[in-house]
Amino acid sequence: MMKNPASVTKNLKKVVKRKYDEDYIKYRFSWCGDETAPRPQCIICGDQLSNESMVPSKLKRHLYSGHPSCANKDKQYFERCLEQNKKQKKFMKLAVTVSEKALEASYHVAKLILRQKKPHTVSETLSY
Ligand SMILES: [Zn+2]
Repeated sequence: MMKNPASVTKNLKKVVKRKYDEDYIKYRFSWCGDETAPRPQCIICGDQLSNESMVPSKLKRHLYSGHPSCANKDKQYFERCLEQNKKQKKFMKLAVTVSEKALEASYHVAKLILRQKKPHTVSETLSY
């Protein structure tokens, strides 16, 4: 008995999740999310594309249309970027907490300055 060719074609058409290829680093793309259905992530701007976009043509298009100035930089440069990103992620949470506090502090300072400035401006207006 022969297998029905139609059913074979059907099986081939099953949705295949695209895998990240180490080679995609040359399009300045890393990946994020689920390992079985990774999403390409641009190293330069951090944009995440869909799993279906995990194809050289689409990654290339993002690079050339979004970051033409980065297209000619060498691969090693981005591999270093990637390494640094990984290291920085560990400290990211801490950095965010610190900068939020710093922001809050600078906000209070700005408010104080405003408060100090206001009466001065008012009294100037009054004496005039
Ligand atoms: Zn990008």
